[in-house]
Amino acid sequence: MPGTNSPDQEMHEQLKSAIRELCRDFPDRYWRELDEKRAYPEAFVQALTHAGYMATLIPKEYGGADLGVTEAGIILEEIHHCGGNAAACHAQMYIMGTLLRHGSEAHKREYLPRIADGSLRLQAFGVSEPNTGSDTTQLKTMAVRSGDRYVINGQKIWISRAEHSDLMLLLVRTTPADQVKKRTEGLSTILVDLRQAVGHGLKIRPIRTMMNHATTELFFDNLEVPVANLVGEEGLGFRYLLDSLNAERILIASECIGDAHWFLERASNYAKERVVFGRPIGKNQGVQFPIARAYANLEAARLMVARAASLFDEGKPCGAEANMAKLLAADVSWDLANIALQTYGGFGFAEEYDVERKFRETRLYQVAPISTNLILSYLAEHVLGLPRSY
Ligand SMILES: Cc1cc2nc3c(=O)[nH]c(=O)nc-3n(C[C@H](O)[C@H](O)[C@H](O)COP(=O)(O)OP(=O)(O)OC[C@H]3O[C@@H](n4cnc5c(N)ncnc54)[C@H](O)[C@@H]3O)c2cc1C
Repeated sequence: MPGTNSPDQEMHEQLKSAIRELCRDFPDRYWRELDEKRAYPEAFVQALTHAGYMATLIPKEYGGADLGVTEAGIILEEIHHCGGNAAACHAQMYIMGTLLRHGSEAHKREYLPRIADGSLRLQAFGVSEPNTGSDTTQLKTMAVRSGDRYVINGQKIWISRAEHSDLMLLLVRTTPADQVKKRTEGLSTILVDLRQAVGHGLKIRPIRTMMNHATTELFFDNLEVPVANLVGEEGLGFRYLLDSLNAERILIASECIGDAHWFLERASNYAKERVVFGRPIGKNQGVQFPIARAYANLEAARLMVARAASLFDEGKPCGAEANMAKLLAADVSWDLANIALQTYGGFGFAEEYDVERKFRETRLYQVAPISTNLILSYLAEHVLGLPRSY
């Protein structure tokens, strides 16, 4: 019936207002001060965890809320819409999926309930390497089996939240690259207990970046990890990684939608209030048209994110939609970041208005977790059948 909300829509509205309520305790000032110190939003992550939101995707039997990527996306979007930044904790939502789909029952019983109740954090995902970049199948960090242990040597870069997580899901090579038939073979996923590893074969070095993002470089020097920590089968790690990427793209796209909405509201409000030449700047079509066009793009990107999330939750293929969602949402958030900065004029550069902070934060999504070029390349080759370029 027109005008009547479905039970799902009502639940989603309740979820949004609950997140807004939680975020009220973490206003702009909170994020601004952390940004200045490049400090981790510990109190925010604690609040989100204790309210159960970090367990959104964990099944009920392991103590989670058993909801879908649609609901996880709503949570992340609303955090960003409120001016916050969920990058401090979003990874747990999609890393956990690898454990859920490919981990043994013993792994799930051991870790998932404790991740759900917040006593254990699985926030770090170790994939990127300094010398191989986007060419993930060529990664070099090597795990060699020795009895009931793997001995790990190598280096990772841009591994976020490693200093604030108890566990890390690590993608390593278990068969040398010159001994595999296909480039995608020979990689494995291993759970590393960071509490035991740091100082015993693993060194973590923080990297200071243009925004407040707890990212690090990792150095492995004969780190020993029990073979029992292998997730799934040896050699299938790249396939497991691909499985988790759609969820990652949809969730990051949701954050971009939240950022875009924040920029849109701030730019519109400022354009109504700021009076120059005796009238609000928003009366000038040169100011209002970019905002109006970006609003249309934002709503279109939102539809693509919702479509990708619902396909994912129905268990249907969604590679094309997840990639397009990430592309469109990251583009609109970056476009609106520029529009908001332009609308604010000089004040946009002042830290106290938060536009410059959000501007720096949302810029990341043109590059990570996958860069725009690589999404375009995926769409060109795998969806449109154009010739392979690399
Ligand atoms: C703040 C931050 C946090 C991150 N967190 C994590 C994390 O927690 N875990 C993790 O594993 N990684 C993480 N990353 C790494 C991130 O996933 C990579 O930076 C990203 O995948 C791009 O890889 P790269 O930086 O090596 O760029 P490169 O692969 O070196 O690419 C550089 C540029 O060249 C372009 N390019 C490369 N090859 C092609 C091609 N064939 N065609 C067209 N263009 C091409 C790319 O689009 C890019 O713009 C993070 C990165 C940052 C900056």
